[in-house]
Amino acid sequence: MKEISIFGSSGYRISDLQLLRNSDDDAAVAKLLAHCPIMLLDADEAITESSRARLYILLRGALSVANDTRTGMADGTVSKILPGESVGEQSVLDEEANLASITALEESEVLVIEADLVWKLIDESNVLARNLLRLLSFRIRAANAQLRRRQKLGEFYRQLSMIDGLTGLYNRAWLNDLLPTMVATAQGSGSPLSLIMIDLDHFKQFNDQHGHLAGDEALRLAAQVLSGALRPTDFAVRYGGEEMMVLLPDTNQKVAMSVAERLCERMRQAKVFSDARALPHITASLGVSSLKPRQNEHDLIAAADAALYRAKEQGRDRVTD
Ligand code: GH3
Ligand code: MG
Ligand code: MG
Repeated sequence: MKEISIFGSSGYRISDLQLLRNSDDDAAVAKLLAHCPIMLLDADEAITESSRARLYILLRGALSVANDTRTGMADGTVSKILPGESVGEQSVLDEEANLASITALEESEVLVIEADLVWKLIDESNVLARNLLRLLSFRIRAANAQLRRRQKLGEFYRQLSMIDGLTGLYNRAWLNDLLPTMVATAQGSGSPLSLIMIDLDHFKQFNDQHGHLAGDEALRLAAQVLSGALRPTDFAVRYGGEEMMVLLPDTNQKVAMSVAERLCERMRQAKVFSDARALPHITASLGVSSLKPRQNEHDLIAAADAALYRAKEQGRDRVTD
């Protein structure tokens, strides 16, 4: 194929320009572009705002394009434009002035094509339409991929901040976030909701006798006992220190009591190891409460706390409601 320069001797070939590449008739395209101005920019010089939509094709140098939200890329994105690439397609399609801030990273030459001429090129040579379609679909895919990455990352950090580091159970932040909704849902639908408050017995003494690291192991084990004994619809939370909580949606007081008994028994049976050293078994006291009409999440927790207090008073290692 014959290589045609845009401006006679200036040396830029139509085939070098991304949007005009692979045309059947470079000569016809070159003729249409013959009167387009070429802008010369010094390093750090910005393209001054035009009130009209324009397409810029970089012939030489490098450009930085910031915050071009209408390309579909997220806010704050800065991209680098290299020779042959273009800026402003979207603004031409939208028939609006280009809002991107375009700055030369080095001495640059930019071919300026007014919107009218872009449309004329689209009408008269389908190469531009085809390349534009390809470019825009590429940008949509890139923007979607970026969005997915950000969503995943955001979700990852959100989840991380809701999980207790030592036990892997949900933490207080999660509880504060979710419990009001669970209570409102239960109150709205009239379905039961139960809560079990769990506190390890004489845990200060356990720490004092076996060391804080062994205490941590015991806590981890207690958390495993809870997670391992629950249904997929139940939730285990580290409420603080050696206090844990289990939330049982769709569960009435009677069933919650039997779940609590099971947890208490499994806790008693669990074997604590620290540094391959077998330690005395741990026990826990458990208080159970079930949501009553007009109660809020604070009432529900207070009731479980009061029940737990009674379990401690009655001698520990037991369940009370
Ligand atoms: P009670 O049977 O009345 O509950 O007695 P207790 O000793 O368990 O209760 P107390 O509230 O006096 O002590 C709780 C202990 O739990 C004290 C604290 O050092 C320990 N503890 C809290 N969080 C952690 C932790 O993350 N790791 C370890 N190893 N110990 C913890
Ligand atoms: Mg305790
Ligand atoms: Mg305690």
